[in-house]
Amino acid sequence: MSPVSAPRQPPRRRSRHLSLRLTLIVPFIIQIAVAVSLIGYLSFKNTQHTVNNLSAQILDRTDRLVAQHLDCFLSTAQGINQEITNVLEMQLLDRDDLTTIGRLLWQQAKIHPEVGYLNYGLVTGEYVGAGHYPNALSISETSARTQWKNVDYSTDAQGQRTQMFRVSDYNYREEAWYENAIRLQRAVWTPVYLWDDPTSGQEISLAAASPLYNANRELVGAIGVDLKLTRIQQYLQTLDISPSGKIFIVERDGTMIASSGDQMPFVEINGQAQRLNVEQSRDPAVQQTAQFLQQKFGSFAAIQQPQTLQIHRHDIPFAGLQTDRQFVHVMPQRDRFGLDWLVVITVPESDFMEQVHENARLTLILCLGTLALTIAIGTITARHLTQPILRTIHAADALSQNNWQQPIPDSPTRELTQLSRAFNRMATQIRQSFEQLAFIAHHDALTGLLNRRAFEQELGAAIAKRQYHPSYQFAVLFLDLDYFKLVNDSYGHLVGDQLLIAVRRRLQSCVRETDAIARFGGDEFTILLDGIASPDAATEIAQRIIHTLQACFSIEGREIFINTSVGIVFSSLTGDNTTEILRDADTALYQAKASGKGNYVVFNCTMHTQTVERLQLETDLRRALDRQEFIVYYQPIFDIITGQMTGFEALVRWQHPQRGLITPDKFIPLAEETGLIAALGEWVMQQACQQMRLWQEEFQLELSLTMSVNISTQQILHANFVSQLQQVLQETQLNPQVLKLEITESSVLSHEDMTRIRFEQLKNLGVQVSIDDFGTGYSSLSYLHRLPVHTLKIDRSFVNRLGAHGENSEIVEAIVMLAHRLGIEVVAEGVETTEQMEQLRVIRCTQAQGYLFSPPRSASDITTQLIAQKSARTP
Ligand code: C2E
Ligand code: CA
Ligand code: CA
Repeated sequence: MSPVSAPRQPPRRRSRHLSLRLTLIVPFIIQIAVAVSLIGYLSFKNTQHTVNNLSAQILDRTDRLVAQHLDCFLSTAQGINQEITNVLEMQLLDRDDLTTIGRLLWQQAKIHPEVGYLNYGLVTGEYVGAGHYPNALSISETSARTQWKNVDYSTDAQGQRTQMFRVSDYNYREEAWYENAIRLQRAVWTPVYLWDDPTSGQEISLAAASPLYNANRELVGAIGVDLKLTRIQQYLQTLDISPSGKIFIVERDGTMIASSGDQMPFVEINGQAQRLNVEQSRDPAVQQTAQFLQQKFGSFAAIQQPQTLQIHRHDIPFAGLQTDRQFVHVMPQRDRFGLDWLVVITVPESDFMEQVHENARLTLILCLGTLALTIAIGTITARHLTQPILRTIHAADALSQNNWQQPIPDSPTRELTQLSRAFNRMATQIRQSFEQLAFIAHHDALTGLLNRRAFEQELGAAIAKRQYHPSYQFAVLFLDLDYFKLVNDSYGHLVGDQLLIAVRRRLQSCVRETDAIARFGGDEFTILLDGIASPDAATEIAQRIIHTLQACFSIEGREIFINTSVGIVFSSLTGDNTTEILRDADTALYQAKASGKGNYVVFNCTMHTQTVERLQLETDLRRALDRQEFIVYYQPIFDIITGQMTGFEALVRWQHPQRGLITPDKFIPLAEETGLIAALGEWVMQQACQQMRLWQEEFQLELSLTMSVNISTQQILHANFVSQLQQVLQETQLNPQVLKLEITESSVLSHEDMTRIRFEQLKNLGVQVSIDDFGTGYSSLSYLHRLPVHTLKIDRSFVNRLGAHGENSEIVEAIVMLAHRLGIEVVAEGVETTEQMEQLRVIRCTQAQGYLFSPPRSASDITTQLIAQKSARTP
């Protein structure tokens, strides 16, 4: 596996998607904001309500206080009148005893400071009064005693007159109290009047006036009690309504009785005191309220019922209201003595709003504080939640860049810990899968050896190493199991697989651990001999491998023999890249196979051209069948004794368009390697049988005259072999006993089980079997007992060596003897000289084949020869 590189984060593009953090925080904040605003709104609404309630309460309370106070205040004067009237009517006092009556009045004046002056006047002209005048209590009298002048007396603490201090022309008959009481003859209030008090200055007052009757219900005089209304003004000013709340009392024509907003209920104009009209009030609240009421009701006189009103800013466009709203309460104040005033209380909303605003500010601050706290908590929470997720995302990123060494730490949240653990598990699994994949990618599934790609990498590393260390040498062995395909075809793939595994074990035992072994293809193996000293060392190992693999394999109860061919390249004698080195090794392997299987060959430069040729040949061979470039030659076989022809051997040739006639040595191994042999073999069989049938018919050949056809190992092991043969025989109508199949001794030996089965099948068909190249197998002859063999063909190499004087004839003689004893025919191959033929005759070999008699010839040549023979026979 490649070492993990430092994770490089890709430049993250701003995505159009919302971030997780925002998704978490925004709705949270919106919710809180909505909740906070709702609370704010509700509390505001609530304050409005509270303000209204509060104002109503204040107005009510003030209203009641004022009403009580006025009742109490006004009843003083009327009460005094009533009391004096009672005393006189009950005759407890003499009506004319002005001294006593004066003292009584003095007493009352002393008790009631709100009372200005108490008056008692008779229709007869007598008058007595008492009160705070000019600056202390005094009594005044008009009577005969005072010569009908009005005389003022100062008094002592008991109300005794002490001295006379003033004489005036005061005429009580002109006073409002007397005039009203006499005229109306009932208890009434005089109109409000302004008078200049010598001590307190200007005062507004009114008097309670009552008529006096004698026992005959005849009007005898009147009583009048002055009330200082300025006291009401003072009282109103002490009333605590609200910080800017005002209260004022007016007569129905708008003339002010008292106002908490004004210094006094009158004004000085040109040194002359005048009563104040409410619209002249210096207090804007009072003034505006009065304006509003007059505007609303037309006049004060129209207001008959108590009213509670609200003045809004837009109600008085002419004089800006200080606040948005003004609460107003209007209450008529009447009594049975004819009093008819209006008490007006006015309270601005701002008085309450101050508090309300304070509350609202507090609420707002609290709300904002809550919001800020919420956002802070939200942010921290979101961070807390998103941090592990972001970590997971980064880890996933890293993972996608092959960096899986970063386990995500646990987070404090259970679910997120589960997530990170699941992620870590997944990453581990992916890593393991990748390691497995990497193993699979570099190894052969069956044997567990390196595969082609991995081997090429190893080889690449060795090549690179050689560039830096010129003394370093290596060798590559290219192995091919001869006939492995046959094992596969005949015993099945399972056995083939087992064989490959067994081969791997033996290969591993032959090399060092540092040497890399690879399964390169189906039955091809490559071995990189690392740091090897010389080509000799490599060949030594190759020999060892060949030898080790020659030993019998026991697989699934079967004994299997295989051969191995090895091509060797040595680093100093080959190319300098993987492709060239492997190509050269392959070339050497091919040479090894061509030189006889089970061999090794060390690559040299000349081999290269051969390889190219061979490749060309292979390409051509694949097309040759279609192009019908093959031809079959026939070599006759003779009876040495009689000189009669006993049969033919079919030998294939390739009429190459450029290279001319090519002998089978050059292409049969190639056809076997490429698998083309099956089709080619079948074609030769077809041709040979057909030709033999033709000759039989044309020349009435005897049935003893046979046609031998060479069969390659692959062919005979093929499952369809027998059925194909049957088909050919059927098609060509050739008698099976004419046909002889030549099978090499080596192929019989390496696949004894299979060949025995085939030989039995062929025997049943009536087809004969020859053992070709007999004697080259270097093996026991025991199989001859076991197999139904018809003919032995002694290999040309033995026949060659037969000397003119009987030298080297022992082996051939032994073979011939053995064959005779076993009842097997013998054919000597490659007989070239008469000496050889003589020797064969001596050792009683019956048949021969060779250039001495006839080389392989084309069918037409043979036909010509047969025609000649036929004409020679017939006279
Ligand atoms: P083989 O079966 O041993 O065939 C005999 C070979 O010896 C033939 O070579 C033949 O031309 C040659 N020969 C015959 N008499 C003499 C002689 O006096 N002196 C010498 N030096 N050679 C002689 P050829 O035709 O080149 O065939 C070579 C081999 O190719 C054959 O050896 C056989 O194993 C194979 N072969 C040929 N045709 C076929 C075929 O159709 N199928 C298969 N599977 N193999 C074939
Ligand atoms: Ca042959
Ligand atoms: Ca032969």
